[in-house]
Amino acid sequence: MKLPYIIIVDDDRQVLGAIQRDMRNHYREEYRVVATESAMEALELIKELKLKNEAVALFISDQKMPEMDGVTFLEKAKETYDETKVVLLTAYSDIDAAIKAINTVKLDFYLLKPWNPPEEKLYPVVDDLLEEWHSHYRPDHEGIRIIGFQWSPRSHKLKEFLSGNLVPFLWMDVESNADAEKYVASANAPHSSLPLVVLKDGSFLLDPELPALASGIGLKQKAAEEMYDVMIIGAGPAGLAASVYGSCEGLKTLLIEKSNPGGQASSSARIENYLGFPAGLSGGELTRRAIAQTLRFGTEILTPQEVKKINIKDGYKIVEMADGSVIHSKTIVISTGVEYMKLDVEGIEKFTGSGVYYGSAAIEAHACRDGVVYLVGGGNSACQAAMHLCNFAKEVNILIRRDELKQVAANYLVENISKVPNIHVLPHTEVMAVHGENVLEEITLKNSKTGEEKTVHAKALFVYIGSRPGTSWLNDFLLKDEKGFIITGRELANEKSFQAHWKLKREPYFPESSVPGIFASGDVRAGALAGISSAVGEGAMAIRFVRKYLQEN
Ligand SMILES: Cc1cc2nc3c(=O)[nH]c(=O)nc-3n(C[C@H](O)[C@H](O)[C@H](O)COP(=O)(O)OP(=O)(O)OC[C@H]3O[C@@H](n4cnc5c(N)ncnc54)[C@H](O)[C@@H]3O)c2cc1C
Repeated sequence: MKLPYIIIVDDDRQVLGAIQRDMRNHYREEYRVVATESAMEALELIKELKLKNEAVALFISDQKMPEMDGVTFLEKAKETYDETKVVLLTAYSDIDAAIKAINTVKLDFYLLKPWNPPEEKLYPVVDDLLEEWHSHYRPDHEGIRIIGFQWSPRSHKLKEFLSGNLVPFLWMDVESNADAEKYVASANAPHSSLPLVVLKDGSFLLDPELPALASGIGLKQKAAEEMYDVMIIGAGPAGLAASVYGSCEGLKTLLIEKSNPGGQASSSARIENYLGFPAGLSGGELTRRAIAQTLRFGTEILTPQEVKKINIKDGYKIVEMADGSVIHSKTIVISTGVEYMKLDVEGIEKFTGSGVYYGSAAIEAHACRDGVVYLVGGGNSACQAAMHLCNFAKEVNILIRRDELKQVAANYLVENISKVPNIHVLPHTEVMAVHGENVLEEITLKNSKTGEEKTVHAKALFVYIGSRPGTSWLNDFLLKDEKGFIITGRELANEKSFQAHWKLKREPYFPESSVPGIFASGDVRAGALAGISSAVGEGAMAIRFVRKYLQEN
């Protein structure tokens, strides 16, 4: 455990030296005793310690000081550390000020100068105060904090990024958490500049862009090598599996992820159909295990880093990133999966991240406590999200266009949902409009059978209405089907323009695209079976063909 601080302030160098010496002699094993002549300097130090999440057990301040008197200093210090014990150092003539301070700063003790012998006049009192402080002190969260407004899209984006990257953090809402304001003040951050991210070492970032936050927490965005054997684009289950098999087989493997590893699976509250986990496991847990495994084998991961373009030169793949950097690889596995479709309702963008969420049920569930929430779509992912949200929200409503949930979701989920009293399924129902001042407040629903419309209060709207492949950035670089999924293997022969693309004597391998040495795996591949197990299998299989390709070239 880190030692708590004792902070002493006195402008009189001699007195300061004496009390510092006495305090250090007695307490240095268990406390860090810091002394300064300047109250202003002490206040700066206090802010710094707050950001570093350090504990301060005791302030000792002289009353008569030129910058500010002791009572004022203690008052200000307690704005940041309200549980800390406070002692005023006074001359006999200042006793009046000390007595007043008992009320104003809840003074714990006033110590008359001189305090000799300390064994009698100093240590017994300070021992008592420190013991009392210890009995009430509760160690705080040690990691990263995000401080901001609950319904701010910027705050949501940071929370989503950290939780997606499996970085633990403490969320502090400035409007409902009194301690949050202390961090804001310590960082001298105006409310307009929130969210504030306080890192473990006490440094902080104001409303950071994701790459800045990523660097702050030690995630890499620049490749270490000039050339890789295999570059895997997208770190969903398919990409993670490919990376494990790639580096396990000794290939120089680079995995690139534009937002957070785990892909769609990371937003799943409970995966019940993954082999070997009879009680199910969360997407976050599966991702955490996969990342640990792939790093152990030596995979290099860049995140957040987005691939924008691929070029070919002499058979080598040259990949351009969103930040303009370029990486070379002998082969590529594209495992960019699918992205959520946006709900087409006028004005909905304004509330994205501030009441309207795409696949973020796990992150925002706590904020929905005791509220009424709506989910659009009735597929498996929507049902899983509903099962998670019903533990927090007062009421969860699933809006579907069809008659019954069983027409769109897996049986086991439909059964589970039917047993939960606070989940309601509203058939034939669509969202017509969204309303609110700054955050989502109400939505207008329409029953497509009866034509009836009603406007209801909604704490949040979670959208799960399907997906499209993450391939728009590829343009016409390789052959895709009409929906944008990457065509691979034998299916390519059915494409008119295939011969113009393919110049090798051999046929494309099963997961190989129309460009030799570029493979597709997981949901992004045309004809793939969507699902975590299939994606994992496809990722592993792609590496087998990567090896074959490398042996030939
Ligand atoms: C909420 C939810 C619950 C689910 N539950 C289950 C379940 O219980 N069981 C089950 O079998 N399936 C489940 N699924 C489906 C399953 O998660 C997917 O089938 C699986 O994740 C597909 O894996 P993938 O690797 O192919 O793609 P994805 O998981 O979609 O991952 C693709 C990754 O590529 C990244 N990416 C995209 N473009 C780029 C780019 N240009 N540069 C860099 N990176 C990029 C994305 O950010 C993403 O992380 C669920 C899906 C959701 C949404």
